[in-house]
Amino acid sequence: MTKNNLLKILLSAFLLFSLFAATACGKESLKLPHFYLSAELSGDEIKGKSVYKFVNDTDNAFSEVKFNLYANAYREGAKYKPYRTTDSQKVFGGEISYGGTEITGVTVNGEKADYVICGEDENVLSVKTGEIFPNESAEIAIVFKTKIPRAALKLGINGDRINLADFYPSPCAVINGEFKECIYNEFGDPYINAALNCVFELTVPSSYTVAAFSNPVSARETDGKITYRYELDGARDIALCASENFSVAVKEQGGVEIKYYYEGDGEQAEKGLSLAADCIKFFSEQFGAYPFKTFSVVETDLNAGGMELSALCFVDVNADEEQKRNAIIHETAHEWWYAAVGGDEVNCAWQDEGLAEYSVYLYLSENGFESEASDVIEGAKSAYKSFFELKDLLSGNADTSMNRPLTSFSGKYEYINIAYNKGLLCFKGYEDAIGRARSITNLKKYYKKYLFKIASPEDMYGCLGLKEHFTSYADGKVII
Ligand SMILES: [Zn+2]
Repeated sequence: MTKNNLLKILLSAFLLFSLFAATACGKESLKLPHFYLSAELSGDEIKGKSVYKFVNDTDNAFSEVKFNLYANAYREGAKYKPYRTTDSQKVFGGEISYGGTEITGVTVNGEKADYVICGEDENVLSVKTGEIFPNESAEIAIVFKTKIPRAALKLGINGDRINLADFYPSPCAVINGEFKECIYNEFGDPYINAALNCVFELTVPSSYTVAAFSNPVSARETDGKITYRYELDGARDIALCASENFSVAVKEQGGVEIKYYYEGDGEQAEKGLSLAADCIKFFSEQFGAYPFKTFSVVETDLNAGGMELSALCFVDVNADEEQKRNAIIHETAHEWWYAAVGGDEVNCAWQDEGLAEYSVYLYLSENGFESEASDVIEGAKSAYKSFFELKDLLSGNADTSMNRPLTSFSGKYEYINIAYNKGLLCFKGYEDAIGRARSITNLKKYYKKYLFKIASPEDMYGCLGLKEHFTSYADGKVII
């Protein structure tokens, strides 16, 4: 044996060990890239600076690093808007209001760098980095300012409440050696976000109460402004909601601090808080421990009804009690199936939506709401059947495939029937085939293996088994 061969063997043993350590032990040994963001909110603008440490863990060299500019979907003239035109009245309540991001400076490793705004709809920032070879890294700093529209959207001001998601340049995830560019859409969640170790410093007027992805680790107050520092390892997004009039209800649940931000009715907030805490307990028992220290639910203005974020979710303040309840269960489930186990929500939305819906079904059936649980299944079946007419299904004229981009759906109802209803029926069919206990055991394995990673449908079938079952649903072959 030559020395070189011995070295190779030692090296592969080391790599194998590292890989094993990373997958077997989860969070502690999983090294995620660092992302730092500082931002100041003032009026209808948030401006700031991000610093991203890009590590090239692929086999290719890169000469550019890309970021999604989600806020550009909110700009005037956007091709892919964040709302349906038919919802304009609900979203704006009157005059249409626009947002958008402006990039004012970029450096790479401290040197001024060139960049272009590109993508199909000015949705991507490409920073010219010079060659970054495998195992090399680059530190990319971006100065930006984002205009916040007056709108009931993920990014929007509504009276005293300010929703701040989508507001900063978000590093494009690298999958199979390619930066994944996300095109916005008028429904769905158009994200493919990698998990990052995030530090977020936010300056707001001192009068604001802020809901974010962690408790602040520090707060510094000067001249009527306060700067909070938040830290979260494994965050797929940085978002917040701020208001001068928020009250907060708090409850501890198995070492996790659950918070409920609301204005007005404290009794209803207590119910929402208890439900969120119950869900954190139940899903932790079923799928694996909740991966963060806090979870916050915020009642705010949101056309979409509910929105999942890392360790945080928004629930539409104008929804009725039942809608809020359903949204809280569904969005809490997304902490496992979006925040913890990531996916390609642009092209395979059914994966996390189907699992979130299946988790709701499990919660209902195991917590004394059995008949409601079976109503959820029957409701999904009948909505799907009434949307897709049988003759179209039999003749092959209906596209019931599931792995396709958000923009390919004919509208919101087709999307809901495929991603939510058919997604739910697919996971319920899986449970019917192998039994609930095994279904939960396999989901536990899936959660552990892909915690803070991005799982493709193939990765998921690999973990859960019954690949033919899943592909027959995903390829549109099953007739429901
Ligand atoms: Zn969802």
